[in-house]
Amino acid sequence: MTPTPPPDPLAKPIARGLTDSFGRVHDNLRISVTDRCNLRCVYCMPEQVRFMPRERLLSFEEIARFVAIVAPLGVAKLRLTGGEPLMRKDLDVLVRMLVAIPGIADLGLTTNGILLAPIAARLRDAGLERINVSLDTLDPERFERLARRKGLDDVIAGIHAAKRAGFDPIKLNAVVIRGFNEQDVVPLARFARELGLGMRFIEYMPLDAEHAWERDKVFLADEILDALAREVGPLAPAADQDPRAPALDYDYLDGGGRVGLISSISRPFCMSCNRLRLTADGKIRNCLFALEETDVRALLRSGDPAEAVERAVRASVAAKWEGHEINTARFVQPDRTMHSIGG
Ligand code: SAM
Ligand code: SF4
Repeated sequence: MTPTPPPDPLAKPIARGLTDSFGRVHDNLRISVTDRCNLRCVYCMPEQVRFMPRERLLSFEEIARFVAIVAPLGVAKLRLTGGEPLMRKDLDVLVRMLVAIPGIADLGLTTNGILLAPIAARLRDAGLERINVSLDTLDPERFERLARRKGLDDVIAGIHAAKRAGFDPIKLNAVVIRGFNEQDVVPLARFARELGLGMRFIEYMPLDAEHAWERDKVFLADEILDALAREVGPLAPAADQDPRAPALDYDYLDGGGRVGLISSISRPFCMSCNRLRLTADGKIRNCLFALEETDVRALLRSGDPAEAVERAVRASVAAKWEGHEINTARFVQPDRTMHSIGG
C-alpha cells in the first residue's frame, strides 16, 4: 500500500469551497471578456446588435482581482470566452495575469479563430495551453450562412497557427443544427483526425436571439455518433472519461483520436455541473440558462473588500437551481443570448 504523504506545511488551505445545495462543487469559471464579435452566428447572436458600452466591461485588472478572490475558494480551471475573446486587444496580457494567480491550474480559450493566426504564438508564450476553435462547417457558402460573415480561410489559418505555436490540446467545437449543417459532421470529424485535433459536437441549445430554436432542429448526440461510426470509424466510450466533464468522450478504435459530445438536450449533465460564469459586464451567472444574475462589478469597482465579493459568489452558488428544465414545459429562455453570456 502506498503511504499517505505528510501534509505540505506551505500549502494554503482552500477556504470552504463553492458547494451548492445539491452538493455540486464549483471549481470551473468561464470568463467572458467581451460581448463583441466579428461573426453573427445564427444560433448565438442577432444580426443587428448593440454592444455594451466599453466602460461597462470589466478591465483586465478587475477580472484578475475577481479570479484572485475565487481561486482560494477552490476555482482552479478558467476559460476565456465571449463574444469573441480575441476582439479584446492584447488578450495575452490578461492570460499572463491569470496564470500567475496561485491556485489556477488550467486556463483555456474558446475562439471563433478568425483573429487567431497573428496572436497564437503570443498567447502560447503568455502561458495559455488549451484552445477550442469553433467551426461548424468546412463549406465556405454554409459558413457564411451560419456565421452571416465570411471568414472560413482565416479560421483554418488560425488552427494551423495554433498547431505551430504548440497548443495542446486543440479542439474543434461544432454546433449541429438539423436541416442546416448535419452534413458537415463527417467532414469535420475527418478534418480533425487528419490534423490530430480533438473534435467536439455540441447539441444546439435555446440561446439564440431570434428564438428560432426548436427541439426538432437539435441534431442529437446519438445521431452524430451513428454517422461517425458508419462513415469515419468505430468508436468506444473513452476509458478515462471525466465524470464531471460536460462532454461524453469517445475514442476511435483505430487510435485516430477522440470525439466529445456535449449533449445538453438529450442527456443533460446538470447534476455534475461545476461551472460558474462571469459576464463581460461583471455579473455572475450560476447557469447558462439562469434567469437571475449577481453583480460583482460594482463591488470590484468600489473597492469593496474581498469578503464582499466572496459573499456575492457564495450567494449565487447557493441559489443555483437543480437543472436547466429545457425538457419541461416550465423552461424559460433567458433574455441574454449566448454571445453576451459567454458560452
Ligand atoms: N466566439 C467564440 C466562439 O465562437 O468560439 C466564443 C464564444 S461562443 C458563445 C462559445 C461557444 O458557444 C461556441 O463554441 C459556440 O458554437 C457555442 N454556442 C453559441 N450559441 C450556441 C447555441 N445556441 N447552442 C449551442 N452552442 C452554442
Ligand atoms: Fe460570435 Fe462565437 Fe457567437 Fe459565433 S458563436 S456569434 S463567433 S460569439
